[in-house]
Amino acid sequence: MNENLIKKTAQAMRQAKKVVALTGAGISVESGIPDFRGPSGLWEKFDPMEYATIEAFCSNPRKVWTMLKEMGSLLEKSKPNPAHLALAKLEQMGYLSSVVTQNIDNLHQAAGSKRVIEFHGSGKRLICMICGRMYESQGVKLEPLPPRCSCTGVLKPNFVFFGEPIPWGAHMEAREEAGNCELMLVIGTSAVVSPACDLPVIAKKAGAQIIEVNLEETQLTRNISNWILKGSASRIMQNLLDEVLENKE
Ligand code: NAD
Repeated sequence: MNENLIKKTAQAMRQAKKVVALTGAGISVESGIPDFRGPSGLWEKFDPMEYATIEAFCSNPRKVWTMLKEMGSLLEKSKPNPAHLALAKLEQMGYLSSVVTQNIDNLHQAAGSKRVIEFHGSGKRLICMICGRMYESQGVKLEPLPPRCSCTGVLKPNFVFFGEPIPWGAHMEAREEAGNCELMLVIGTSAVVSPACDLPVIAKKAGAQIIEVNLEETQLTRNISNWILKGSASRIMQNLLDEVLENKE
């Protein structure tokens, strides 16, 4: 069944004037970065609800930094997988306008995607909680924890924790992309984190087709998505790219 749906998706992508991808943690699972759902070492050890909220960070930055340090070494080792690479290639060939990602792992950029809207910010930089000065994460020593600014303020990764607002520019840009695309690929997201989960709804209301790529159905599948390509993101996206390439005009 997937084979026909992949052909149908490739055809829809070739016909659409504008295609946007919305990605979530699932696209990076095959790069070794666990999502919040499946079995994983990191989130079994650190409950996201205990470690990934802004209240937790402000009340005990040292504790939260022990998790961030472990996450940082996972991110450092990770490489883009075929799903990230397929999206970069589709953009390069003119079939994809942009990637809106909820991820903070920089893997779309590492794969070669040029237009990446980081809806939740990025792990590449740290920001001082007091003076707002930015630091490249790689250059900051993580001993002792938490790392501090020269003004003594605590440094926080420049991505949003649960309870923080979405960066304004990325939010506006993502809503605009969603509102004027003709097709949205929704890859590896459970679509429960708001307001990112509103983007497929905005696209649908504006007339776009919504096609999901996921191991399992989500809350979008029944009411919003036109269809779902069930399976691993790397396999599905590689097959989709092959199909688009095969019938390229
Ligand atoms: P989520 O963890 O809530 O859901 C992941 C989704 O991906 C699930 O629906 C799952 O079925 C699917 N999935 C898992 N492995 C897959 C695979 N190999 N192929 C296809 N689908 C797969 O993730 P979310 O919806 O992105 O929301 C969680 C929040 O936490 C987001 O803000 C997210 O960015 C953040 N987060 C980011 C990272 C990262 O940067 N890589 C990792 C963990 C969490």
